[in-house]
Amino acid sequence: MENFDIIIIGGGPAGMAAAVSAKKAGAENIVILERDKVLGGILNQCIHGGFGLHTFGEELTGPEYAERYADMVRDMDIPYELETMVLDVAPKPDGCKAVTVISPTRGVCELSAKAVVLAMGCRERPRGALGIAGFRPKGVYTAGTAQKLVNLEGVHIGREVVILGSGDIGLIMARRMTLEGAHVAAVAELMPYSSGLKRNIVQCLDDYGIPLLLSHTVIDIKGKDKLEGVVIAQVDENRVPIKETAKLYPCDTLLLSCGLIPENELTSAAGIRIDRRTNGAMVNESLETSIEGVFSCGNVLHVHDLVDFVSEESARAGENAAKYALGAKREKCESFDIETGNGVRYTVPVSISPGNADELTHIRFRVGDVYKNVSVVVKSGETELVRRKSRILVPSEMVDLLIKKDKLQGISENIKVYLEEA
Ligand SMILES: Cc1cc2nc3c(=O)[nH]c(=O)nc-3n(C[C@H](O)[C@H](O)[C@H](O)COP(=O)(O)OP(=O)(O)OC[C@H]3O[C@@H](n4cnc5c(N)ncnc54)[C@H](O)[C@@H]3O)c2cc1C
Repeated sequence: MENFDIIIIGGGPAGMAAAVSAKKAGAENIVILERDKVLGGILNQCIHGGFGLHTFGEELTGPEYAERYADMVRDMDIPYELETMVLDVAPKPDGCKAVTVISPTRGVCELSAKAVVLAMGCRERPRGALGIAGFRPKGVYTAGTAQKLVNLEGVHIGREVVILGSGDIGLIMARRMTLEGAHVAAVAELMPYSSGLKRNIVQCLDDYGIPLLLSHTVIDIKGKDKLEGVVIAQVDENRVPIKETAKLYPCDTLLLSCGLIPENELTSAAGIRIDRRTNGAMVNESLETSIEGVFSCGNVLHVHDLVDFVSEESARAGENAAKYALGAKREKCESFDIETGNGVRYTVPVSISPGNADELTHIRFRVGDVYKNVSVVVKSGETELVRRKSRILVPSEMVDLLIKKDKLQGISENIKVYLEEA
């Protein structure tokens, strides 16, 4: 059995950033395992701009951003194995982890690692999970599949398009399909607010005159072999369609942009605790899961809106995996859970050990609704750790709070993150 210090599962932006920082932190014997034929993950199909403003201070396309990290991986001589699918991760009695892989060169074999970084990304919520009436005609795609077909395979998928869900991938595909010569009739969104970034609504819908129908959904799909149209209706405050508002939109293409699901089958099978709010692993301040030495980062941990945040988070996971693999001394200290209240849907991490915290600890979260003029408060008992005023908080934009290490020292109760009227 081949032994590694660190095995990184997934060669997308998260896996590459984790590998680069693990190597910088002194780990030598690292490998990235990627099931695809190339490094880069989903970014390879995101040929539009807008990536890298935080990380590189310039606007890059997805493939350019991915290539910057792939260059670092190659320049630092970090080994990576492509067309290598990880099938299983399991803790061993000696504290190492057994990683079962399958690839054309290795066949099926078991590797061993002191530390593992989970960086498997996420997949899209498919039609089957949405429960829309109608047959299964051709012409219905998830937005990411359409993005791959159009941008990577050069396939012309349709002329008259409706998009369900205003997630960022759907908004970007509305513009892409328009640039490809199609007509996008509407983007229907179930919620009274968009689940995409404001900049994407402006640049991908408003600039092209594409209507965004908030509080609307597709209630029927017409056509048996080939899509002929969809019926869109307004929904009431309980998200129940109002039949009288139903309207037929003739179309040959329906794109679904209705959420992303972290790819955590390996994580669950390993026995790692999953947070039902994010569908990602429950991690502590070091991004370490409930199995010691297994770290998680990027979209497999929680869905991010900006890849720059993925890279930053994954660099921390890689550095912590290196410290673990190199046997850095750990303080045996008390850990405090992070509880959420009033408006805060989840946090990453879900617990903090002040003794093991870095100089700055990130707490990232999303709100469950639109909130105006609120303060985000982080408290432990009566000790206020952070208070930050916000003019507006929306579910589509992840919030990143920083807590200084000295603020955490001396806390004796669980931490609570909640919103308060400003
Ligand atoms: C369809 C889609 C389109 C997107 N478009 C945009 C966009 O236009 N703009 C934007 O800012 N963000 C976009 N995102 C968000 C984007 O995914 C993230 O910002 C970023 O790519 C997440 O990086 P990651 O490394 O966590 O995941 P990914 O980029 O998804 O990389 C995960 C990698 O892990 C590999 N992997 C998974 N399981 C295994 C396994 N068992 N064994 C080996 N390898 C495995 C996958 O093949 C993949 O290469 C999109 C996401 C999706 C799903």
